Amino acid sequence: MVDIHQLVVEHKELVIRIRRDLHRIPETAYTEKKTSAYVAEHLRREGLEVQTGIATYGVVGLLNTGRPGPTLLLRADMDALPVTEDTGLPFASTHDGAMHACGHDAHVAMVLVAATVLNRVKDELNGTIKFLFQPAEEGPGGAKPMIDEGVLENPQVDYSIGCHVWPQIPEGTIGVRSGPFMAAMDRFDIKIIGRSGHGAMPHFCVDALEVGTQVVSALQRISSRHMNPLEPAVVTVGMFHAGTAFNIIPGEAQLTGTTRTFNLDIWNSWAERLETVVRGVCESMGADFEMKFSKGYPPTINDDMMAEVVRRCAQKVAGEDKVVVPEQSMGGEDMSYFLQQSKGCFYALGVGRQEFTPLHSNRFDLDENVLALGVETHCRIALDLLG
Ligand SMILES: [Zn+2]
Ligand SMILES: [Zn+2]
Repeated sequence: MVDIHQLVVEHKELVIRIRRDLHRIPETAYTEKKTSAYVAEHLRREGLEVQTGIATYGVVGLLNTGRPGPTLLLRADMDALPVTEDTGLPFASTHDGAMHACGHDAHVAMVLVAATVLNRVKDELNGTIKFLFQPAEEGPGGAKPMIDEGVLENPQVDYSIGCHVWPQIPEGTIGVRSGPFMAAMDRFDIKIIGRSGHGAMPHFCVDALEVGTQVVSALQRISSRHMNPLEPAVVTVGMFHAGTAFNIIPGEAQLTGTTRTFNLDIWNSWAERLETVVRGVCESMGADFEMKFSKGYPPTINDDMMAEVVRRCAQKVAGEDKVVVPEQSMGGEDMSYFLQQSKGCFYALGVGRQEFTPLHSNRFDLDENVLALGVETHCRIALDLLG
C-alpha cells in the first residue's frame, strides 16, 4: 500500500510554487490564456493526455490506468477577479487590476499536484481520472459550456469532486456538508416605465422613481411573507437608477438585483413570483414595466454518499476532530453543473484566521501550509473511489 501522506509531503514545495506562479498572473473570466497554458504544460510534462481550448481556455488532463473502472472528475476553476491586490506579498499580482482574490490559484495548484501524485500511484488505481480546469467561474460561468462541449463523456464521468478555500472555517480544518451547500443565484432586470414631467405637477405624471421604491419594498415581502421561513431565500435589489434633475419627475427607473435559494422548487418559481409582484405594483400605480429574469448557477447540492467518502478521507488527512460541517453559503458556484450530472461533492478547505478576510477582498490571502491538506484529500478520494 502506498504512503500517500509521504508522497504529498514530498510535493509540498511544488504546490506552493505553483500557487505562487499562478498568483502572479491572475486572469479574469475568459482571459485565462497564460493560466491554461501553464496548466496544460504541467499535465503534458506528467505524460497525461491533454485537451485544451475547451470552451475557450478549458483544459482536461486524462489519467487512464488502462484498467476498467469508474471515472472521477477532479475540478478546479482558473479565473481571477477584477480587483487591485493590496496584500504586499512578494508574489503579488503583476497584472494591473486583476487578483486571485477567490483563491482559484490554490484550487488549480492543488489539482495539478494531485495529478502528479496520482500519476505516481496509478498502478493502485482502476478506471480514469479527468483533471478539469475551467474558465470563468466568477461569471458568466465556464462549467456549463465545458459540459456542452462534452467533457463529461468519453469516458462518462461517474463522480465529481471540487474544493474551495473557505475563510469561514479555521485553518487546518476541512468542511464537508451533504445536501445543499451553496445557493442558486440569478439576476433580474426591471425597467419601470412611467411618464415624466414637472416636479411641481405630479398629477400630470407617472413617477417611475416612486413606483420603483414601492417595487423594491414589495419584492422584500416575497421572502419575508410568502416563503416558508424554514427555507432560506434572498431577494436583493443591488442597483436602482432613476432621475436626472431635482425638479423633474422621472419617467423611467431601472432596478437590477439577484435572488438566492437552495430549494429547486423556489428556484423554479422566482421568475413568476417576481413578475406577479412587479405587475401588481405597476398596475396599481398606472406604470408599465419590462422584466428580464436570467437564471444563473443551480444550487450546489452534494450527494450524501460522496459527502461520506470525502468526510472519511478528510478525517484521515486532517484528523477526526478537524473535519467540520460548514454553514451553508448563499453564494453561488458553477461546480453545481457537474454535481447535477454526476454524483459528487464540493468540499471546503479551511483558511480562516483570527483576523477574518473574506473571499473577494483585495487583501485575501491564505496559509500555504493548508494546500498539502487539499492535495492529500483529493488523492485519498481518488484512491477510495478507484483504488
Ligand atoms: Zn469568488
Ligand atoms: Zn471562488
